[in-house]
Amino acid sequence: MTSPLWHPFTQHGLREPIPEVASAEGAVLRTSDGREIVDAISSWWVTTHGHCYPPISQAIAEQAGRLDQVIFAGWTHGPAEEVARGLMEMTPDALTRVFFSDSGSTSVEVALKMALGYWRKQPRPRSRIGVLRHGYHGDTVGGMSVGERGVFNAAYSPLLFDVTALPLPEGGGENTAHAIESACADEPLAAIIVEPLILGAGGMLTYPPEALSALRRACDRHGVLLIADEVMTGWGRTGTLLACEQAEVVPDLLCLSKGLTGGAVPLAVTLATEPVFEAHLSEDRADMFFHSSSYTANPIACAAAAANLRVWREEPVRARIETLCGRQAERLAALQRHPVLSNHRQVGTIAAMEFGGSEGAYLSGLGPKLAKWFRNRNVLLRPLGNTVYVMPPYCVTEAQLDAVYEAIASAADALAEGRL
Ligand SMILES: *Cc1c(COP(=O)(O)O)cnc(C)c1O
Repeated sequence: MTSPLWHPFTQHGLREPIPEVASAEGAVLRTSDGREIVDAISSWWVTTHGHCYPPISQAIAEQAGRLDQVIFAGWTHGPAEEVARGLMEMTPDALTRVFFSDSGSTSVEVALKMALGYWRKQPRPRSRIGVLRHGYHGDTVGGMSVGERGVFNAAYSPLLFDVTALPLPEGGGENTAHAIESACADEPLAAIIVEPLILGAGGMLTYPPEALSALRRACDRHGVLLIADEVMTGWGRTGTLLACEQAEVVPDLLCLSKGLTGGAVPLAVTLATEPVFEAHLSEDRADMFFHSSSYTANPIACAAAAANLRVWREEPVRARIETLCGRQAERLAALQRHPVLSNHRQVGTIAAMEFGGSEGAYLSGLGPKLAKWFRNRNVLLRPLGNTVYVMPPYCVTEAQLDAVYEAIASAADALAEGRL
């Protein structure tokens, strides 16, 4: 019997196999037909410490037996308070408020709405949003609006709001800073939203910390709010807890999700500065922040996040990340001279390269062929077009990482010899 399931980002017309995963542990997925797959993309960038990480799984089980769900408008609970306090200790002091939601996309929607809410209360309201070219901020209508326009959202373009597209930072980011200046001369921007240091879904495109600092300075000169979408980069992916740290940049709004619960259950937060909060503070109910979802700050998800924060406080997570950064660098270097690979790059624990030419295109025919090649070698890699990237959980072993890079090297050889 065929499955009634409709999978995300999947062209069912191609009838590609859809393996069934029965269990997972560490960096390994076990399929129901008994194979062990190395999860080299952290199950779409979410799993940080490893699958079914015991402190997090236990916290979920205990919370599920104590308090499963409670309305969060006008009510609170211990796990949410614990996560909020923990985040205050780990993130820049200027971020003083924590708003919960359920996914990276909604954390972005919340940040955009907070930015507009802030500007509505200023003497000269602003509403225009600046975005980086090739950015990705989720698949809801607001998230698509601030993301790169293309095949992903062409069908929905009549629904998307107009934004100012800024060029990707080059060198020290002067080009983007200049674009912010000239945009503001036309119509002052309310906010710009960026993925700090590395643009994920846009093809693992990187820019240096100095460029991020230059963007912050340009925002400051024009009173533009900076929204850091650290949904992918947060929780150590770039080598530091937040990518912004490397540029000593403090955003006005910060979006976190994916690794917030260690990758076990969905949850997101948008952190805001006091001025953004205060713009919504009055005795008039019409000024409150009008956003919620049924499951805002779900206690089970918050218990997972609280356990994740304890893991970060009590275990040598930073040392594990540093080890992984070194192991990635060694293996990437070993592929440096391969004739069909180019544009090798690494930001922290994330390594990426292009197969057969430097320009990536999402619908490149190479992507599905590569994915199949990797799947047949029990490695989960999901190329973005012809861009192959490795973003494993921090617990990945040397042997598992070797298996991943052997699969990449063999695919490169096959491509060079016309066998792919
Ligand atoms: C994944 C991602 C999102 C969307 O998060 P979802 O949880 O999939 O909604 C937003 N921004 C960035 C940078 C992401 O990588």
